[in-house]
Amino acid sequence: MNKEILKKNRKFTGQRALPGLLVFALLMLCGCTRSANENALKYRNGRCIVFYPPENETIREYAMSLCENREDKVLDYIMEEAGDYFRITYDGEEYFYVNEDMSDLDLNVINGREMLSDMLRYEMKKGEIDEAYTAEFWSKSDKNSIDLENIDLKLEKDHLDLYFKDFEYTLSLPLGYLRSLTGKDLGFGEIEDYEKKTFISLKRPMVALTYDDGPYRTVDEVIYDTFRKYDARATFYVAGYRMSQTEIDSIEEGIQMGMEFGSHSENHSNLSLLDAYEARAAIMEPVSYVYEKLGYRMRTYRPPYGSRNYEMEDIIDMPAILWTVDTRDWYYRDEETTYQRALADIKDGDIVLMHSLYMSSALASQRIVPELIDRGFQLVTVSELLEAKGYDLDTLKAYGSN
Ligand SMILES: [Zn+2]
Repeated sequence: MNKEILKKNRKFTGQRALPGLLVFALLMLCGCTRSANENALKYRNGRCIVFYPPENETIREYAMSLCENREDKVLDYIMEEAGDYFRITYDGEEYFYVNEDMSDLDLNVINGREMLSDMLRYEMKKGEIDEAYTAEFWSKSDKNSIDLENIDLKLEKDHLDLYFKDFEYTLSLPLGYLRSLTGKDLGFGEIEDYEKKTFISLKRPMVALTYDDGPYRTVDEVIYDTFRKYDARATFYVAGYRMSQTEIDSIEEGIQMGMEFGSHSENHSNLSLLDAYEARAAIMEPVSYVYEKLGYRMRTYRPPYGSRNYEMEDIIDMPAILWTVDTRDWYYRDEETTYQRALADIKDGDIVLMHSLYMSSALASQRIVPELIDRGFQLVTVSELLEAKGYDLDTLKAYGSN
C-alpha cells in the first residue's frame, strides 16, 4: 500500500478552523486519546493519511508512526470551514469533511423521504429509463416503501450521489438539497427549495382518465389513493351545485396532488337547450366559485351529456373536452365492466370518461391505473395531454367527441 501523509497548507480559511486544529494538536502532544488517534488516521483510496500540524517535528514524527510504515509522501492540503464541518482538500481535488474531532462526516441519516422519492421518480422518467414506466417501480419508490438501508451516499465536489441498490440507479443531487436531506450543514449556503416536478415524456404514450359529476369526497378519496400510489394524475369535471364545504375540501386535496379540475356546469343542465350566453354563465359559475374559494383557475370544461353547439363554444374562452373512450360506467355500475371497457382499445392520446359518483368506478380505477402504467402509458391531466400533443388551450374550442 502506498502510504502518504498530508502536510497542512498555510492557506487556512475561516476563524473556526484554528481552534479545532489546536485541540487536535494538544491531544497529540498529551499522548492522545485513543479516539482522537483513530480519527486522525484515515484511509482513502488505499492510502494512509494522517493529519498533523507540520511545524512541530515531534508531532509530525508521532503522526507518521501511526501509519504502518514510513514510505510516506507528504502532501499539501487545505482545510476550510464548511458550515458545521471542515472541508479538507488534497491532491487539488479529492476532499472530505470532518468535524472538530476529525471524525468523518456521516451522511447516512436521511430525512427527506418524500423529496427523495419524488426526485428519484422524476429523474428516472427524465432519463427515459424503462423501469420508471412500470407499476412495480412506482410501488417500490413510494416514500413509505423506499428502503433507506439500501441507499449508498457519496459526496462529490459539487453534488451528492445516492445509489439506490433496489433500482440500480444513481441519483445526483445538487448540494443545496443536502441540508434538508441529511440535516448536515456543509456550508453550501441556503437550502434549495424543493418543488415537486412533473416530467412528461413526449416519446412515450399517454392517456387522460377523467371523472365527471363530482366532487364526491367518498369516491374521490379512493381515486386519489390510487393515483397517489402511482404518482399519476387525472382530471375531474365538477358541478357547481355539489360544492358544499366538504366537497370543496376534496377539490383542494386533489389540486395539491396535481389533479386537474374543470367545469361541468352549475346544475348539470343540457347546455345546447340554453341560449349561448346562459350556457356560458352555467359553465363559468363553478369556474369563478372555485377560483374565489381556492385560487385555482380551471382551464377546460366538459358539457353535461356531451351536449353542445358551436355558438356556445365560440363565446366560452376555454375548450370543451369530450372523450375518446366511453366506459358507460354510470350505466353498468360494475367494476369489471368498467375495467374492461376502459382498456379494450386504449391508445396514445385517449381521454377516458368515467364518473366519480360510483364506487365501482373508483375500484375499477385501482386496476386500470397500474395496468396502464405497465403498458407504458403516462397518466396525465387533460391539459397536459393536449399541450403535449401540440394544442394551444387558449385557442382550442373543442376536443374529442361524444
Ligand atoms: Zn355529467
